[in-house]
Amino acid sequence: MIKLALHWKIGIGMVLGVLFGLIMLQFESGKEFVQDWIEPIGSIFVRMLKLIAVPLILASLVKGISDLKDISKFKSMGIKTILVYITTTVFSISIGLGMVNLIQPGEGVSSETVTKLKQTYASNVKIQERISEASKQQERGPLQFVVDMVPDNAIAAMSNNKRMLQVIFFTIFLGISMLLVPEKEVRPLKKFFDALNDVILKMVDLIMLFAPIAVLSLLATVIVTTNDAAVLFALLRYVGVVVVGLLLLLVFYLIVVWTYTKKAPFWFLKQIAPAQLLAFSTSSSAATLPVTMERVEEHIGVDKEVSSFVLPVGATINMDGTSLYQAVASVFIMQVLWPEGLIFSNQLVIILTALLASIGSAAVPGAGMVMLVIVLDAVGFPKELLPIGLALIFAVDRPLDMLRTTINVTGDACVSMVIAKSEGKLGSPRVQNWDDNYPQKPSA
Ligand code: ASP
Repeated sequence: MIKLALHWKIGIGMVLGVLFGLIMLQFESGKEFVQDWIEPIGSIFVRMLKLIAVPLILASLVKGISDLKDISKFKSMGIKTILVYITTTVFSISIGLGMVNLIQPGEGVSSETVTKLKQTYASNVKIQERISEASKQQERGPLQFVVDMVPDNAIAAMSNNKRMLQVIFFTIFLGISMLLVPEKEVRPLKKFFDALNDVILKMVDLIMLFAPIAVLSLLATVIVTTNDAAVLFALLRYVGVVVVGLLLLLVFYLIVVWTYTKKAPFWFLKQIAPAQLLAFSTSSSAATLPVTMERVEEHIGVDKEVSSFVLPVGATINMDGTSLYQAVASVFIMQVLWPEGLIFSNQLVIILTALLASIGSAAVPGAGMVMLVIVLDAVGFPKELLPIGLALIFAVDRPLDMLRTTINVTGDACVSMVIAKSEGKLGSPRVQNWDDNYPQKPSA
């Protein structure tokens, strides 16, 4: 039998999912059928990935830190990672702003389209939910996000996937303290975490066996629940600016990989493709994290000391695709509804708030739109126009979310290679298959 590479199997699953969704749309009850009987498969898959995210961060970060011989190395890697993440995010926002100002997609939107979108979506519950979620975030003090990083209960932090930064904080604290206890005494604990880490990576392999059928389900569901395709055409210029911007970012990452780490761009894409395809299908960097970690460590050769820190932090705070989208979407909405607000100083405000917003965005579907409200608010966008502004871009948000999440994950993988290279920790791949240690035949 021909053995297809995983990314091909996932790709075929995606194509079949789209076709299946389109076929089901031809039947009167096709949409309900997909939602009742097909969607649960994808949901179970996403749940399983999320299920192992916290234990994976815990085991792999403890292993990464406790393997270090010296804490100062961790400090320098930490500072470097945050600086690189901020730089790539500011770069992404600048690409977005440059393009949206140059191409002016807002000019192509007719007043009929605005009225139609307003009538269809302005009172949509999801839009209202996003606005109220954003106002909750705005009520918090300026340093609250730092306070929020420190958990007051380790178990409670680990019980909530949204508290990823708290888990990272606790784990770094644990790992560093382990380095300070004599090696002999800490050995049993270290062995426990090392073994846990190996077992969880095996769980990733096992879950991925199920990936092709899961993406079929996820994409069929997206197709049957996607809004009016005609709207997509009305917003074609806006969609085009976001898509071209994201492609430019991808090219930028490939150039960085090629010039700085000396790895071939296509090789990088091939190794990371399963994580990209999953990011596209799930629209969640958090759900994709276990797979990103597995690909980067086993298939690219980034040492665990680097990947175990850089990737979970990246999934939570580094969202280059999302920040580019926020820059484009905010200016686009202003071009259509509030052109007088498009002054130079507001563009600077967008750079700063989109940076903070992408750090604050949760790594889940649709989070970028919540933080967009905060960006718009910061430039003084009239509150009464907010639901109409979101209504303008809502219909095309899901496909753009899929694309920006793919870029978010690619950016994290690229930065992990850069940091690994700079620390002398970029080695050769060590591929582990799901059944490597499984006795196929009973030994005689
Ligand atoms: N869905 C994105 C992610 O998980 C966040 C967003 O842009 O909405 O990375």
